[in-house]
Amino acid sequence: MLSNDTCEQYKQDLKRLVQSWSVARVSKKSKDLTSFRNTVSEVAQSYASFPLFTLHEMLQSMQSTCERGMSGQYSSVRTKADIDWLMNQLIRSNKLTPDPILSESDENEELLLDRKTQPAYGPQSIVKVAIIDDEKSVGGLLKAMLEQFSFDVSYFESTADFEISLQQTQPDLVLLDITMPAISTEQVFDFAQQLVQRNIKVITCSSLFNFETRLHAVRAGVSDYAVKPVNVYSLVEKITRSLKRQVNQNYQIVMLDDQVSMGEFYQAVFSHVNVDFHFFQQAEELLDAIEHLQPDLFLLDRIMPSVNGLEVASMIRQDPKFDFSPIVFLTADEQLDTKLNILAHGADDLIAKNTPTPLVLKQVMARLERSAFIKSFVSKDPLTGVLNHGQIVEAANHQLRLHKRHPTPCVLALIDVDHFKDVNDSHGHSAGDLVLNGLGQLLQSSVRETDLVGRYGGEEFVILFVDCELAQAHKKLDAIRERCTKMHFVQHKPSIAISFSGGLVDLSEHKELPPAISEADRLLYLAKESGRNQIKI
Ligand code: GH3
Ligand code: MG
Ligand code: MG
Repeated sequence: MLSNDTCEQYKQDLKRLVQSWSVARVSKKSKDLTSFRNTVSEVAQSYASFPLFTLHEMLQSMQSTCERGMSGQYSSVRTKADIDWLMNQLIRSNKLTPDPILSESDENEELLLDRKTQPAYGPQSIVKVAIIDDEKSVGGLLKAMLEQFSFDVSYFESTADFEISLQQTQPDLVLLDITMPAISTEQVFDFAQQLVQRNIKVITCSSLFNFETRLHAVRAGVSDYAVKPVNVYSLVEKITRSLKRQVNQNYQIVMLDDQVSMGEFYQAVFSHVNVDFHFFQQAEELLDAIEHLQPDLFLLDRIMPSVNGLEVASMIRQDPKFDFSPIVFLTADEQLDTKLNILAHGADDLIAKNTPTPLVLKQVMARLERSAFIKSFVSKDPLTGVLNHGQIVEAANHQLRLHKRHPTPCVLALIDVDHFKDVNDSHGHSAGDLVLNGLGQLLQSSVRETDLVGRYGGEEFVILFVDCELAQAHKKLDAIRERCTKMHFVQHKPSIAISFSGGLVDLSEHKELPPAISEADRLLYLAKESGRNQIKI
């Protein structure tokens, strides 16, 4: 919390700003604008070292607007409108208790800590999983299966045993059986809650999962639950998903507003979280840009001089590519008719322009996360849990489009299971299905989070190694190939062993996807010809 002194100081500073602006906004003399700018700059400097939510950014935005006005880049009308809006935000938030601009947001710091630092392509950090289950046979089998996916797994027969080991090392995730002889269900959930508080993800396992236990689980902050007998591959998916949600992905937000200061302001606001923010003043520019930007969310202004924001929303909604990207209007007008009209044009929400900034941030981030989550489900191949054909093709096309603007290496791999027909013929189709499920999860869990895995068709998969050189991708895929030959995909049929062959192409050497796929296919065929169980580049 801020000290009373700081709050008092801020009140004084705000008063100074208001006084100075009330002179400058009606004055025709440029020295008054300069004097206001100097006040803003002084105040901004005195808060530069405080982690005060958005205050510093607002003041900086105000300062640069003044400078544009002073240099003649902005008309006096525009300068006045922009600064008025920023001043109103400052004044309004000062009336709210606790003042959202002044409050030091803990969440904000957490979000900052969450910022994903993408490691260079190298060894992945190994995920530590602890299994707590009184049934040794269940625990042992799960441990063996999960270890195949390179998780570092330890098994404990009781929570007491686990607690002893916790003094030495902390796992990333705990698989917790909820029916154990030594402790009651309530105690298990208390225990789960303590783990969650220590930043350990928890997935509960149980043969019975009624409403009451699910409610307990949710209250304890459990990430997910698995029903016994546990399907290992869906468990692998749950583990990957639980840990992934901790890391924010880089969302793309596109904003359209005729007021530059709005753009600058929200750009600063969203710089606190993992968002790439793109601001446009012109609808035409926005529509051109979204061809390669793939926005996850649109923030639109409703009334602009040259175009109506609702029409822009309708245009965006005509393109199925953006079906999962929410459209949110920021508007000063909160009339019921306006709201209904906005929804009728395919928008999802309306946020009043005078909403306190931290709340806008929360609302937008919640929408983003929710829609990304839904999108990830719809994009999946139901059998294997990796991206479906359409999505992996779209992802590859997206990489090609990105490459045209920012050349970064990206490698496409096409792999095909060797003699898969024999697996089906000898062990049945359902065993074959399990193998494909397992392979999908093996691929997914072996690559980086930013890489993409999809089922191209039948027993063929595509992997996109993003921001990765051909030689590195080759090394990586070859290691996966090696591991695949040692996997026991079907628990009760350890004799089923498979291998795959693959072709690798440097996507940046191709302008279109079809020739890149053909080339990968040619290399794959070559690998098959040369005896299978190998990768060709
Ligand atoms: P090669 O090494 O030349 O690739 O031999 P192969 O037997 O893998 O190739 P082929 O194309 O002859 O056979 C592919 C088999 O994959 C035939 C098809 O039934 C099986 N398959 C495709 N999709 C699925 C699926 O979803 N589940 C199961 N169980 N089998 C599938
Ligand atoms: Mg095959
Ligand atoms: Mg095939």
